[in-house]
Order: sequence, then C-alpha cells, then structure tokens
Amino acid sequence: MIARVLPLTRTRAVRGLFDYRLPDAGEVGVGSLLRVSFNGRPSVAVVAELASSSSVADERLVTAESVLPARLPADLVELAMWMAGEYCSTPARALSVILPVGAERGMRDKQVLVTSLTGAGRAALGDGSVLTAGQRAALQTLARRSPVRAAELGTELLRRLERRGLVSIENSTASRRPARHIVSSTSAVAPPLTGEQAAVLASLGEGEGRRFLLHGVTGSGKTEIYLRAAEATLAAGRTVIILVPEIGLTPQALARFEARFGDVVAVMHSGMSDGARHDEWQRLARGEARVCVGPRSAVFAPLSDIGLVVVDEEHESSYKHEGDPRYDARSVAEERARAHGALLLVGSATPRPESVHRFARLRLTRRVDGRPLPDVSILDMRGRHHPLHPTTRLALADVKRDGGKAVILLNRRGWSNFLSCGDCGHVFMCPNCEVCLVLHRKESLVACHHCGHRERVPRRCPSCGSVSLARHGAGTERMEHELLGALGGDGFPVLRLDADAVGLDARARLLERFAAAPSGVLVGTQMVAKGHDFADVSLGVVIDADQTLRFPDFRAEERTFSLITQLAGRAGRGGHGRVLVQTMAPEARSILLAARHDSDAFVTGELIRRQALGYPPFATLIRIVCSSAEPSASLATAEALRALIDPPNAAILGPAPLFALRGKSRSQLVIKAGDRAAAVAACGAAVDALAGVREHRGVAISVDVDPQ
Ligand code: ADP
Ligand code: ZN
Ligand code: ZN
Repeated sequence: MIARVLPLTRTRAVRGLFDYRLPDAGEVGVGSLLRVSFNGRPSVAVVAELASSSSVADERLVTAESVLPARLPADLVELAMWMAGEYCSTPARALSVILPVGAERGMRDKQVLVTSLTGAGRAALGDGSVLTAGQRAALQTLARRSPVRAAELGTELLRRLERRGLVSIENSTASRRPARHIVSSTSAVAPPLTGEQAAVLASLGEGEGRRFLLHGVTGSGKTEIYLRAAEATLAAGRTVIILVPEIGLTPQALARFEARFGDVVAVMHSGMSDGARHDEWQRLARGEARVCVGPRSAVFAPLSDIGLVVVDEEHESSYKHEGDPRYDARSVAEERARAHGALLLVGSATPRPESVHRFARLRLTRRVDGRPLPDVSILDMRGRHHPLHPTTRLALADVKRDGGKAVILLNRRGWSNFLSCGDCGHVFMCPNCEVCLVLHRKESLVACHHCGHRERVPRRCPSCGSVSLARHGAGTERMEHELLGALGGDGFPVLRLDADAVGLDARARLLERFAAAPSGVLVGTQMVAKGHDFADVSLGVVIDADQTLRFPDFRAEERTFSLITQLAGRAGRGGHGRVLVQTMAPEARSILLAARHDSDAFVTGELIRRQALGYPPFATLIRIVCSSAEPSASLATAEALRALIDPPNAAILGPAPLFALRGKSRSQLVIKAGDRAAAVAACGAAVDALAGVREHRGVAISVDVDPQ
C-alpha cells in the first residue's frame, strides 16, 4: 500500500500529494499522521488517500518513518481541502488549525500507575502477616477503595507489596478533564416550553439537513431551543456541535448544557491545558462524548454522524479566525452541517444581514419572563465636556440609593485615548505602528493596543521638551476612576471588565463577583454586553455609542446596533430596566432603531443599503494585505497582484496604503466580486503565481475572504 500525503508545511510553493510506502508497524488510514522525511527534513504529514500503486519509481519511493497516535476523521481531511479553497489558503495550513493540540508532537493519553488489592493482600490484613505500619495503612486504604493512583500511596512501598503478591500495579489512562462548570442557578430540569418556543421547535422538526436563523430578542429562551434540539438529536443517535463566542464570558451557557446532558458533553477552549484538550478530543473521537461545546475551533470536533450544529450569538465577530486560513467558523459550521446532513441553527437577537438573507427565519418575539424590553433614552452629548451626561449621573445615583446594579459600556480600554504635547501638539505614537499610544494610568505606562508595545509615561515632549501633556478622550480605566469618585465606597463596588483583565478565569471571577454582589456597577468594553444573565441589572449605559460608527467599515452600523441592543438585553431581566445611550450622533439610524428595539427595520434597511452599494451578501469581498519591512516592497507586490487578478464581473480597489503595523509597512487590495468562486480562484492563482518569485520574497501576503 502507498500513502498519498499532505506534508504539514507553511510554504505555499508545496502543492499536491506526495507518495510514501507505509511503515511496518501501525494501522494507517485516511487522516492518519505519519512522520516522514520531506525535502530532506523530518516532517509530519497527513494521509489524504491510500493507493495500491504509485507513479513514483520504485527506487525513489521512500518509506514513512512511523505512525503518530492521533488520527483525524476522514471528513475533517475533506473539510481541510474545502477550507483551503474557500479561504485562498493551502490544505496543510487548514489542517494545522483542524488538528488537535499536540498531534504533531505525537501527544498520547496520559498513563498513570494504579494499584489494587489482590486476594492475598486482603487475607494478609487479617492473618497476622508481617507488615510495617506504612504497608498496613496502604493495604487498608486499598481495602476501602481501589484502584488508587500508585503515586498517592508511594510507588516504592507498593512495589515491595507487589513482589509479595499483595497488590497489583498496572497502567491506566488518566483523565485530565476540566472541572465541570457549576453555576448555582443552573437546573437540569427542562422547563415547559412557551408557545413561541414550541412553535419554533415544531418547525425545526421538519428540518433534516436544513438551515435556520433563530431570531429572538434577548431573554426569549433561545438556549432552551438549542437544548431541546440537542436532546432530540441525541435521542436519534446522532451528535451535536454548539458554538459559543467566548467561553470565559458565557459560563452559564456551558453550565446549562452540562447540567442537562452530563458526561456526554465535551468542552474545548484555549483556556484549558493541552492535556485536557487532548483528552476531550479523544473522548469525542471515541464517541464517549457526543456533544461538543466551545468557541470557534469546536467546529472541528471529531464527531461522526453530526445531526445538529448550533451557532449561538451568530453576529459575534470572534467567529472569524485571524490567522491563515482566515476562516469564518459560521461558514465552516454550515459546510460541516451540509456534509453530515445535519440541521444548522444559528441564533441571535441581532442577526447579521447575511444570515437574514440566507436562512429561513424563526422568531421569538417575547422575553420568557414576560417582562417588557427596557426603555432606551438617547442622550445628546454634543457640546458637553464631562464624560457622563447629567441624566446618567442622576440615574447612577438612583441605582446606588435603591441598592441596584448598573452596567456601563465604553468600548475603549485604558485611561485616555491619546496623549499630545500641550505646547507643540506632538502626538505620542507607537514606534512600531502608525497609531497613538493609550495611557494606562494605574501601571503608569502607555501602550499600543495593536502590537502590545509598552513604555513608561513620557515625562516631557521629545520634540519641544515641554512638560505639559494633554490627555484626550476617556477609556474604561478613567471611567472606573470617575465612578469610584462619584459612587464608590459604602459597599457599592465599582468593577471593571476589559481585555486588561487577562485570562478566562480572571474574567469569570469578576463576573461572578458582580453577580454575587447585592448592588454595584460594572464598567467595561463590549465584553460587558455579551450573554451574561444577571437577574438584577436595572440600568444600562452606553458611553460614546457612535464610537463604533466612526470606523470606516461597512459593518460599522451593524456593530453599533448590536452593541446597544445586546447591552439593553442585560437590563431589566427580573424587574424594570432602563438604558441610557450617550452619543454625539443622536440621529444615526442604528442608534435610533436600537433605542426602539426594532431589529427588523434595522436589518431590512441594512439589506437595502448593502444591495445598493454592492456589499455582502450581494457581493463577496476579498481583502489582500501585503506587508514588508521595506516600505516600497509591499506596494510593489500589491501592484503585481492587481495586474494578475482578473476575475470576471468584479471591481478591484487599491492598492491603498494601510497604517504600518508591528514595524511593517502595508498595502491593501480589496476585490468586490459578484461571482464568489471565480474571484476566490483568481486571487488564489495570483498569490500562488507570486509565491516563488524572488522580488516578492520579503513580502508577506495575507488573503482574507469575507473580512470583518
Ligand atoms: P436567550 O438565549 O434568548 O437570551 P435564554 O435561553 O438564556 O434566552 O433564556 C432566558 C432565561 O429564561 C433563562 O434563565 C432560561 O433558563 C429561562 N427560560 C428559557 N425558557 C424557559 C421556559 N420555557 N420556561 C421558563 N424559563 C425559561
Ligand atoms: Zn512638544
Ligand atoms: Zn504598536
């Protein structure tokens, strides 16, 4: 037999399959990982096909060195091929994001020694055999419970007992499974469905191999629909993938799945140790776990016969992967559902126009608890200098007086937006990127939010020597400070949640503290607007709501609308809620419609606008970014690409310069195409054509199909 393999290399220049003879030991099939020598270097390769003969001459055909333990299901190898084409990448790069952690290093199940009592050992406890006190204690422990990890009782002591035949010691697979996500309020019992929920489920029942958008207001019980659909799928003997935006921010969703389905739920996310991820992957591959819950990468769960794929909060941009291939987990989910004949269910309170256009829509129009959505007031900030509107200050004082809770959204980290010299106007910029440095006062440093560069707060202006530095704009850190001054103390906590709170655990702990506190304020970036389910938030505030509108991006309106709506969804669960939206653009359509909770009008208008402008879903956008240390090189490569790309019925914009990032100058091309497949193929061919060309060698080319 011959294995036709894909070597896992980063280079674009390597194309096609390579033939190897199979090693003597180890079972090999499509998806097996082999250690091979490729181009004279040790590499790992994935088996794409098995063949009985090869076109390579016998004496040149090399034998693979060994078979690695992990094996990818064949459908995931096929998915990698699909991703490579869909995102202008290569099968090897696609495989590298699909493969389980540690697979290329040959990671195995963790083995530990466990020990049990033998019949002779049990007898020895009663028949006056000579035992030291330690030996007797160990045997007594084993009589109560066995097997026990050998390390727990002392391996050396046990080996001596083993030689006397009193205990047995053997290898066993140790589980590194993460602890369950217990959230106190979670119940394992399914509540009776509301009328709307029952109607939605009935429509899903007809949905073999079909695709639905579940458009339901916040708190309308979408998760209960996912749970019931999953239950039905498991009962039919099939498996389930549930994608969520970020585990650390939505422990409740996970806890609800674990509470309902127990051990058949596997969890995978980047906060887990490699060992735990390996074990969860194996449980899924062996069929012991049949539901996989996780962010983006859970779409690659090694499940067979998938019957349901859910994408929760489908509007979240975190579903887009930022490395090559720049896949969109929502599209990959659709492809996996198609390949398995599974039901696809994507849900949101603020669905993307793309999904409204593409899928059959099911509605949940009311909150489960019957409470109305909160009143939203727009506060005009034009001509005001204090970061908080007087109405906001009064409302916050009310919350404190009444012992309530408020959530404040300000989508900007740090203390101030940027620093400049009060005398000459010099602006403090990142040395690597053409962007302003942001002041973080507590650590007394300025930081670049793009490359992570940090330095001490400057004492004086490097250009004129002045010591008068001006700070502009307010970030979450400054807001926290303002709020502490105005409201803090007397057991009224002011908590801050943003990317400065590093680590999933730190964030989850902060959220738990806020949930457990009887009253207080939570201030933070868009993270505070995500799916948390706090029962008792009576006030939501959006500071600078039009900030997201100022991005030069056709999705700016959509983002603004969804942020305000999501924040409003946090307020008034279990009581009367109120939302204040501070903005310099009180007439903006996205802000007005979000204030009216009118996501229908918003999405309809958005589709009309996008059709008129030729944006997705009516066209495909492809963004190509060339970057290089040498400033003119990136532009030259972008121009060369532009000359090569010639897709039918498409417009090419650029090359346009982008701000430098991490010390690299950048040039961008944007392709706006009616025929998606043709445009993707044209871009792929052009990039491949330049891959081996010497003068473009120092330039990194990144292709982003459906950029965010
Ligand atoms: P969404 O995902 O639409 O925001 P959830 O599924 O989180 O809404 O539901 C909001 C709350 O209502 C949750 O606490 C959930 O347990 C509860 N819930 C959902 N469906 C029902 C139901 N049929 N009866 C009672 N409570 C329900
Ligand atoms: Zn100056
Ligand atoms: Zn930088």
